[in-house]
Amino acid sequence: MPMDTKEFRRHLHRHPELSFKEHRTAQFISDRLSELGIEFRPIAGTGILARVEGRRGNLKRCVVLRAEIDAVPIQELTGVEWASEQEGVMHACGHDFHAAMLYGALKRLHLSRDFEGTLFALFQPAEEFCSGGAAKVLSEEPFKDYDVVAVIGQHTDPDLEVGEIGFCPGKFMASTDELSFKVEGVGGNAAMRCQVKDSVVAMSDLIMRLNMLNNDVCIVSVGKVEAAGTANTIPEQCRCEGMLRTFNEGLRSRIKDMIRHIAQEIEYKYDVTIQVDIRDGNPCVENNAQLSYEAMLLADSCGFKVRDLDMCPMTEDFGHYSQVYPSLFYSLGVGRKAGRRHTAMYLPDERALEVGEEFMWQLALSVLNK
Ligand SMILES: [Zn+2]
Ligand SMILES: [Zn+2]
Repeated sequence: MPMDTKEFRRHLHRHPELSFKEHRTAQFISDRLSELGIEFRPIAGTGILARVEGRRGNLKRCVVLRAEIDAVPIQELTGVEWASEQEGVMHACGHDFHAAMLYGALKRLHLSRDFEGTLFALFQPAEEFCSGGAAKVLSEEPFKDYDVVAVIGQHTDPDLEVGEIGFCPGKFMASTDELSFKVEGVGGNAAMRCQVKDSVVAMSDLIMRLNMLNNDVCIVSVGKVEAAGTANTIPEQCRCEGMLRTFNEGLRSRIKDMIRHIAQEIEYKYDVTIQVDIRDGNPCVENNAQLSYEAMLLADSCGFKVRDLDMCPMTEDFGHYSQVYPSLFYSLGVGRKAGRRHTAMYLPDERALEVGEEFMWQLALSVLNK
């Protein structure tokens, strides 16, 4: 008897692994796929890419169902019977759910193969790592011989009740980039202002200028500031780190230019040097509008409750797929009692497993057979 979805999820939950360390997870998934006789291969280091060909149609036309498999560095405190056995690591983002629902949907699709074209199931590693699994998957060009008609992913959402599925056609989630600045001046006695080039004041001005970039479609925050002088010593150098989020790829690159320009202005104003390091993270998640509306109609006809979602400033490496292929990323309700994601008490309602599996299965069939 193949493993059921709940058992699969609980196993992953007990044995969480961090980004790019999902070795046992990948082995477990491989074993389950082998039991079912499903063809697969490793991808992006610790990921698994499974493939099922339909009974008819053009086999070069494909749909990719994607789930993440990594956990986060949190010590679980839920106290459930299937709680994490790995000290300081927990499936606190619901990726155990996602992988299990993908397994369930894949199992159903493989059983009948009653569809046109090819189905890929992508168990993707390292979503939580910047810039992680999705970029690595795409760098291997696994779908280069195929016409990808849709990449589909889902995420557990504790703002929706079980049975509710949330959609946001078009722009959905923000891009993210990490910012780091090193400001170098001339340190010295804090009383001798004419002898120092004050890196602390320059950095403070820089942070204020960055803060002015904030608006409805652009978020800049600085969360780490280091200036290790003393009450009466100005340090030689100081550093700060922050992040940039936007909802538009064009705006994203313009704001990065603007940040570099602001740093140059501050260098000139305070006679200091500033090293700017911008580390690229995830692109925006943009949902294909037609795919979104079709999925909303399908969800409704399957008896699930369709919820409209607003654009949200969270980020997801699913954005990498959505910039290349027609894509859909939707939210699966796991009940408000689940608590917040990325906390030690996150406990999604397992009744949602059936909803997520069923809908992913139906959606894949409907897109493949169109
Ligand atoms: Zn997460
Ligand atoms: Zn996540």
